Amino acid sequence: MHGTRNANERDSAEAVKIRVILMDNIELIMADTQTDAFLAKRRSMVESQLRARGIRDERVLSAMFLVPRHEFVSAEYRDQAHEDHPIPIGEGQTLSQPYIVAIMLEALALKPADTVLEVGTGSGYQTALLAELARQVYSVERHVSLARAAQATLARLGYTNVEVVLGDGSHGLPERAPFDAIIVSAAAPQIPPPLFKQLREGGSMVIPVGPAPAQELQLVRKQSGLPVVTDLEGCRFVPLIGSEGYSSGW
Ligand code: SAM
Repeated sequence: MHGTRNANERDSAEAVKIRVILMDNIELIMADTQTDAFLAKRRSMVESQLRARGIRDERVLSAMFLVPRHEFVSAEYRDQAHEDHPIPIGEGQTLSQPYIVAIMLEALALKPADTVLEVGTGSGYQTALLAELARQVYSVERHVSLARAAQATLARLGYTNVEVVLGDGSHGLPERAPFDAIIVSAAAPQIPPPLFKQLREGGSMVIPVGPAPAQELQLVRKQSGLPVVTDLEGCRFVPLIGSEGYSSGW
């Protein structure tokens, strides 16, 4: 009797084990299928929205293929994450359109040893791209919920060369200056003098400048201590709100 009961118990324990293995494998297969689907979306985003429109910097293209953009948006927007438009991220803010992100990164021409200041962390997506392209990234965000969420996502994805700082980034981060590059992801009324001051000689800043309907994305190079400004593209960003930005929203 005992032997029979033990055999039955062994059989059912074995059945449970097999079921667990099967379930694990199904979950792995589903996760792989999802990963493949997002990989395909990233490949298509890079080819049709970026390369086809003239983005040529292979480091930028590779980083945008590598960084999982869908991880930086909420579940309800995950399927749209790679589409050719901005995505809401909460607090009335948006994750910028892939093409605009690529233009800004290409203009900066980052080198692997660079230290970068980002103003406007948002979701942390562009921060991750900067972390792929440069040695160290300092990123400032004024909304606590966005700063916390971005920090958590970046840590979960294994980025260790990023520091997210909560506060008004319109006056920069003087304690970490000078920076090889500065990227501002919200529109300013003019180039904030403290940001230009924190740029090292020979460094570059990309910043959208102007009021709500008609901003210009500008590349600002520091040459012999003076700004050399090139207009890159018309654009529409959310406002930079702070001591060197706008005093409130549009
Ligand atoms: N590049 C971001 C991404 O990948 O998700 C999107 C940035 S979103 C277009 C602009 C961000 O700038 C918003 O998160 C907004 O809260 C932030 N912002 C606006 N003014 C700021 C300021 N003075 N200091 C820091 N962040 C600011």
